[in-house]
Amino acid sequence: MVQRYNSIVILTGAGISAESGIKTFRASDGLWENYRIEDVASPRGFAVNPELVHRFYNMRRRQLVSSVIQPNEGHEALTRLQESFPGQVLIVTQNIDNLHKRAGSKDIIHMHGELLKMHCSASGKIYPIRGDIGILDRCDCCDSVGTLRPHVVWYGETPLAMDKIYYALENCDLFLSIGTSGNVYPAAGFVQVARSGGAHSVELNLEPSEVESAFSEKIYGPATRVVPAFVDRIIEVATVV
Ligand code: NAD
Repeated sequence: MVQRYNSIVILTGAGISAESGIKTFRASDGLWENYRIEDVASPRGFAVNPELVHRFYNMRRRQLVSSVIQPNEGHEALTRLQESFPGQVLIVTQNIDNLHKRAGSKDIIHMHGELLKMHCSASGKIYPIRGDIGILDRCDCCDSVGTLRPHVVWYGETPLAMDKIYYALENCDLFLSIGTSGNVYPAAGFVQVARSGGAHSVELNLEPSEVESAFSEKIYGPATRVVPAFVDRIIEVATVV
């Protein structure tokens, strides 16, 4: 039976962008685009080899701004949900790409940062960036060399906007998890928080995630197919008078 909801929180992961051509984290044996995650996504990796880390994110950024990468039907369906649903719909994404925004979604939290931003590790100031970052680049705010880094949350660092996210999870009545493996915490624990507040929880993924047993409903298939179908179902129920 389908029920009506008032407030929806949607957690998305790399799987929703996979059909847009951006590889997921664990697509090949724990490697991210053929790099060891600890080498390119940890403060220690950056301290040991900042040139490699910049090169890695510069490549990801070049790919993201190229015309090849476009939002897909999964991102577009979530925008449709935000536009048609009478209650609140918050998207919390672990993705550092900008495909939700480019699909027209509005209420988005990038808990792991954004590839098209950089920050100064001395001042914390955040800047937009579409080109490359280099180890010899000088920061505009403090005029230092070597303080600029991708605005991406690495392993061991605290994700962004956690107070706002937990408040939304505790107060939602529907929690959706889309295209995430359930390997990365705290995001993998969001389903428990939402459920303890009484929310119905649904996993939409290509395959069962690591935390699959925590969900009350599960739908498996590619995001471009299962997300639009699920959104249609929610909108239909919400708009019936
Ligand atoms: P993950 O790579 O660990 O897991 C991806 C999940 O998506 C898997 O469970 C997989 O089965 C599923 N999946 C793959 N193709 C799918 C499809 N077509 N439709 C639906 N599901 C599909 O990703 P994660 O759980 O998001 O965690 C990895 C971390 O990697 C995040 O913190 C994120 O910052 C980072 N990351 C981001 C991007 C991006 O911005 N697009 C890409 C890779 C990694």
